[in-house]
Amino acid sequence: MDIKTSFDNSFARLPDAFYTHVAPTAVRAPKVLAFNADLARDLAIDVPDEEAIASVFSGNRVPQGAMPLAQLYAGHQFGNYTPQLGDGRAILLGEVFDSKGIRRDLQLKGAGRTPYSRGGDGRAWLGPVLREYVMSEAMHALGIPTSRALAAVATGEDIYRETALPGAVLTRVAASHLRVGTFQVFAHRGQTEELARLTQYAITRHYPEADGPMSFLRAVCARQAELIAAWMSVGFIHGVMNTDNCSISGETIDYGPCAFMDDFHMGRVFSSIDQQGRYAYGNQPNMAIWNMAQFATALLQQMGDKDAAVKEATAIVHTMPDQIEAAWLRRFGAKIGISSPKEQDADLINDLLDLMQKDGADFTNTFRALGTPQAHDQFTDRTAFETWRAAHEARIAQENDPRAVMATANPAVIPRNHRMEQMIQAAVAGDMAPFTRLMKALASPYTLTDPDLARPPTPAEVIPATFCGT
Ligand code: AMP
Ligand code: MG
Repeated sequence: MDIKTSFDNSFARLPDAFYTHVAPTAVRAPKVLAFNADLARDLAIDVPDEEAIASVFSGNRVPQGAMPLAQLYAGHQFGNYTPQLGDGRAILLGEVFDSKGIRRDLQLKGAGRTPYSRGGDGRAWLGPVLREYVMSEAMHALGIPTSRALAAVATGEDIYRETALPGAVLTRVAASHLRVGTFQVFAHRGQTEELARLTQYAITRHYPEADGPMSFLRAVCARQAELIAAWMSVGFIHGVMNTDNCSISGETIDYGPCAFMDDFHMGRVFSSIDQQGRYAYGNQPNMAIWNMAQFATALLQQMGDKDAAVKEATAIVHTMPDQIEAAWLRRFGAKIGISSPKEQDADLINDLLDLMQKDGADFTNTFRALGTPQAHDQFTDRTAFETWRAAHEARIAQENDPRAVMATANPAVIPRNHRMEQMIQAAVAGDMAPFTRLMKALASPYTLTDPDLARPPTPAEVIPATFCGT
């Protein structure tokens, strides 16, 4: 049986230059690992039975109204420009509307080879598929803009990544999959007509209030600034902030070797391929600004009066540090119980972060414990913390209801690395119970429903590095 939904495929109505039509490659024995029924309902996707989920979201059956295609893009990967990337293992089925009337992409990840696969097999294995599923849904529950997960389906086929691993397909849902790299590919090729067309498309779809490329740039910068501050506030490290993984809509996309950190360190890196720490936790603001500079450069290729345009675009990108700083202050202010933080409150926040870093305090649990007598348990240097606490209490005495502010800014549970790893290992062995348990707790992250999931890893459980897993 087929699923029932109304596709309206605006991207497929753009000229051929933007994509290649390609159908998913069928898999041997699709089996549903996870399905997000709430999200399906919100998207008005009607699924008659499990067989329909398995066949449609493995790519075995192209649903009525879908128009599968692979999108073209390029990108700076770790600072180096690659002129052509594109969806090498992702296939856009089409677009549907959610209950708020927002157009959403339905995309299969790991659905087989496309003309942009280069040397790759077009597949994904179960580990990264379930990782992205849990991570993106956790991010959504935290209230941070993100792509979402609709389904994870095992393919019944092995794929090879040094060893044989079970294959899977993830269906993700995003405001769109337009990236900085989507613009770069046409800018670098000097295809200004396509660039202008794409700009108009993105404005219509995401920023209808923007009146031209400059205000579009300003709007994208603003959303990126908010996004980065939000990531910082929950200890999230994206890991691969390449321009091809930087969404124009301002959502978190392309969950690869990302992680939420346990013990706090500004320089924390998890990705095994990020040798230089380019995308370290504390470097994320700089990298977002760098990405916006590349975006500005790409957009400029379509603007006539170059000097004036360069000046204006540069000025816009130069507002990013202040915007991120302001968003960061608002987020971290709330985390310590200050609802309208002033500039000088940044010192109080930074003093706490310094103590946390010195003592390797757990990021999530320390903020969660603030305002309770037990907070000092998170520190080895308790005296130093008590000094900070005194200053903090003096400051929040001026606030209305600091504990309520903290309770809504400090999650109790995040997808900790070691739990993700345990979940994946269990799933590979056919046991989805840890997945279900994680999903349940992470659905309401500001309420502690499963204390054991809030526990930091024991030394033996620590996962120091995460892998791209492509
Ligand atoms: P990512 O690191 O997942 O953001 O991917 C970077 C680029 O490599 C994108 O163009 C992907 O489509 C492509 N890619 C990653 N894994 C595969 C794969 N297994 N097969 C084909 N292309 C891939
Ligand atoms: Mg990517």
